[in-house]
Amino acid sequence: MAMNEFPGKEEKEERSLNFIEQIITEDIRSDKTGGRVHTRFPPEPNGYLHIGHAKAICLNYGLAEKFNGLYNLRFDDTNPLTEEVEYVDSIMEDVRWLGYDWEERLYYASDYFDVLYEWAEKLIKKEKAYVCDLSAEEISAQRGTPTRSGMESPYRNRNIDENLDLFSRMKEGEFKEGEKVLRAKIDMSSPNMHMRDPVMYRIIHAGHHRTGDKWCIYPTYDYAHGQSDSIEGITHSICTLEFEVHRPLYDWFIRELEIFPSRQIEFARLNLSYTIMSKRKLLQLVREGHVSGWNDPRMPTITGLRRRGYTPESIRYFADRIGVAKRNNVIDVALLEHSAREDLNKKAVRVMAVLNPLKLIITNYPENQSETVDAVINPEQQELGKRKVPFSREIFIEREDFMEDPPKKFFRLGPGREVRLKYAYIIKCEKVIKDSQGNITELHCTYDPLTRSGLPDANRKVKSTIHWISAPHAKEVEVRLFDRLFLKEDPDDAGEGRDFKSNLNPDSLKITKGYISTGIESLRPFDKFQFERIGYFCADPDSAPEKPVFNRTVTLRDAWARSTQNK
Ligand code: ATP
Ligand code: MG
Repeated sequence: MAMNEFPGKEEKEERSLNFIEQIITEDIRSDKTGGRVHTRFPPEPNGYLHIGHAKAICLNYGLAEKFNGLYNLRFDDTNPLTEEVEYVDSIMEDVRWLGYDWEERLYYASDYFDVLYEWAEKLIKKEKAYVCDLSAEEISAQRGTPTRSGMESPYRNRNIDENLDLFSRMKEGEFKEGEKVLRAKIDMSSPNMHMRDPVMYRIIHAGHHRTGDKWCIYPTYDYAHGQSDSIEGITHSICTLEFEVHRPLYDWFIRELEIFPSRQIEFARLNLSYTIMSKRKLLQLVREGHVSGWNDPRMPTITGLRRRGYTPESIRYFADRIGVAKRNNVIDVALLEHSAREDLNKKAVRVMAVLNPLKLIITNYPENQSETVDAVINPEQQELGKRKVPFSREIFIEREDFMEDPPKKFFRLGPGREVRLKYAYIIKCEKVIKDSQGNITELHCTYDPLTRSGLPDANRKVKSTIHWISAPHAKEVEVRLFDRLFLKEDPDDAGEGRDFKSNLNPDSLKITKGYISTGIESLRPFDKFQFERIGYFCADPDSAPEKPVFNRTVTLRDAWARSTQNK
């Protein structure tokens, strides 16, 4: 599938190769991997995927597609304490929804536990690994600092047979958690802390979602990750910058084990303004009920974005648009919202909806009469044609579209003024009706019967056009207006003694009533609409035929497009 399905004008042009594409091009040219390109996306199933993961998926899978290669989905399931089948299932669903098909290439690091164990024995036999009895605290205390060497463990020089025996007894469950670990024997005075005899295996007496009770020792991420890449013949192992300092260790394992040399390339992880991307913190929001679940439409998770009304194309477009960087930076969330608008503009069906209704009576329109007017379904897809919208003597307009005492720049309805009702007639406000407290309850207007499409004055110009719906045909719906979940650009910037949750936006969800015209009730969840002049909306899975629920994806105001136009 093509990455970039709805590029605007400027994106259509070929962009130059990013630094990863340059490396791969050079590797192909110098025949490093026999021309082969094979990438993978390696999530740990300890949470739902978020927009940062989407970036990694699009990057890894996009590279494979670009270079006619293959990509794997691999679950890095080496920690039984945090991993759950629910997460495995959700990850597969989300990757598929993004539009990627790993075919039969679905793997689990846990499938490699036997090989990893044999390879650990191989390292023991080469005197490159040893069983250590120090506690986690002691190991960390003896590791030294970047400027001061670490101390060698007193167990470092155990002989091969003793190590093999202890390691196998670790596996058999003879020891308690924390009693022993297996460590690589590298260099306690290396300037790279990751080379100071890192732990390869620890004892965890816990069942695993796939291997059950078979194991009570589990490989660390650092020992399992690179080896899993090698086993799968991954040519280019793309990961985020924090793993750059781990690369010498991964290369050391490859050399000592004499296995396939996957090449690790690091890029800067995606950070988004007004958004947190830590799975741990997202989990906290879910557990503590700050959001309704992983799929709350305010969450930066893929499932949340989907429910919010994002399309896979908009997310892939965003991922491509932000490119790959070598240095950490923060992307403006307005660009993500812009990506949604770009795609929804092409896809969303137009309807008129009124969120804050003001009744308007057209006094010269015959009582008991109604008619239909033709409304465009989507101006970007003229082939879809038009939809019939009922019009009658009593309509609702948006309260904000009327001002009793309009300022200079307000061109919409006011006493004595004319506006066009979209797809219908020009009306003139004759009278404002108020209740005893002075609140406006109704407008009385007259219409000009010759201004409808097809009639002589159809093209008569007025300063403004507003949307409306016919009151007898109005159907009440629930509308969920979402705003950013955090008030601060950097949610982690919380000040002394407070954390990211103190920056939660108390008004990130407003539930209100809205009115749509009858005729679009046969909704399916995720159906997408543009409420004309208001924003993009998506039918929520909570919708019932008698009570449709719409989520606002984004408003129509494009802060990102504006800010780039101004530059
Ligand atoms: P954890 O702290 O649990 O490891 P993680 O976000 O790194 O969290 P993984 O499941 O290990 O989660 O991530 C899978 C892949 O997605 C990794 O290759 C990781 O580098 C990449 N990834 C994670 N977050 C981002 C991000 N914000 N931007 C780009 N890639 C990301
Ligand atoms: Mg990770």
